Amino acid sequence: MRIAVLQERAAGETRVAATPETVKKFIALGASVAVERGAGETACIPDALYEDAGAELGLAADALRGADIVLAVQAPEPAALAGAAPGAWVAAIFDPFGERARVEAYARAGLEALAMEFMPRITRAQSMDVLSSQSNLAGYKAVLAAANAYGRAFPMMMTAAGTVAAAKVFVMGVGVAGLQAIATARRLGAQVSATDVRSATREQIQSLGAKPVFVENVAGIEGEGSGGYATEMSEEYQKAQAELVSSHIAKQDIVITTALIPGRAAPRLISDAQIATMKPGSVIFDLAVAQGGNVEGSVADQTVDRHGVRIMGYSNTPAALAADASALYARNLYNFLSAFWDKEQGKPVLDAEIGNAVRLTQGGAVVNERIKG
Ligand code: NAD
Repeated sequence: MRIAVLQERAAGETRVAATPETVKKFIALGASVAVERGAGETACIPDALYEDAGAELGLAADALRGADIVLAVQAPEPAALAGAAPGAWVAAIFDPFGERARVEAYARAGLEALAMEFMPRITRAQSMDVLSSQSNLAGYKAVLAAANAYGRAFPMMMTAAGTVAAAKVFVMGVGVAGLQAIATARRLGAQVSATDVRSATREQIQSLGAKPVFVENVAGIEGEGSGGYATEMSEEYQKAQAELVSSHIAKQDIVITTALIPGRAAPRLISDAQIATMKPGSVIFDLAVAQGGNVEGSVADQTVDRHGVRIMGYSNTPAALAADASALYARNLYNFLSAFWDKEQGKPVLDAEIGNAVRLTQGGAVVNERIKG
């Protein structure tokens, strides 16, 4: 089994799909690992550390030659994978709904695309879940970025010159990123409130010491929601949610939005008219900006000033924490492949539950039910 790790080619991508730690572990399983020179540089991993771990370093073409498995953060274009073994596996984030043409190109190239974001949310796959590991860090960074852009302090401070009031932070969408955003804002001393459409999050919000703010007159999603995910809400719910947000948002200093619906554009949660009711100097961080945005007027990688409110959001938030994001992502990939490692065959053999969920292409065809349907 030859595993190749390439330098990421996408603009602004600073992460890397393997670390010296996971290289060592793959070698212990009996694989050989080839890393493109410079692949870890933006994640603070010099080539020498990969070499010390036992990897072979070279140009991309050298690393790819005869590779059975290619590890990447963002799926490379199939044309960039020439030289890999026929039918090679590529484990990466594919954005299969947004990049459908690339999935077709993988099928045509005879490669087996394994979309890490399609990992099922089942207990045994938790350690392989790249959405969770990356969203957790993104939720943390969003709060720090918003705190940095905010012209006031987060904690209440009683000083000889007078008292500084605690910042009021409102988190919209309490999945993995939202929970970490609540925890981070609380650690910084803010007064935190949060909302979601899934009723199970109410207790989670309270357990972190924040105040739940929920639509009460229209039913939301019962419990965790199917697979832990939200769906698009009814018009009636959206109207009730807009009223709730309007009454709450004017009193907030910082709003962090994280709401996503798998396979769809992010739901719009804050309108320009609602932004206009906020105090000047308030900050909104839209973590969903790359998926269409939760906030009217948000633009990826720019700070937009609307009615004296700063609206910001990154196209790739985990990339702002490249070293930690890479370490966790690389472990997700290792946990995935090693769980299925067949010692006798000397290679991973996926089972149906996880294999069919993540596999997009095989034998020249698109085989994934989620994208075929
Ligand atoms: P996500 O990124 O898809 O969405 C973020 C949050 O936005 C979700 O909580 C969602 O309910 C919320 N949201 C969607 N539409 C909204 C709207 N209109 N208004 C307000 N909020 C809205 O979700 P995620 O963070 O990837 O995961 C959600 C949940 O899945 C987690 O909290 C967890 O309970 C579960 N999970 C389970 C596993 C596992 O068992 N292996 C792993 C990861 C996550």
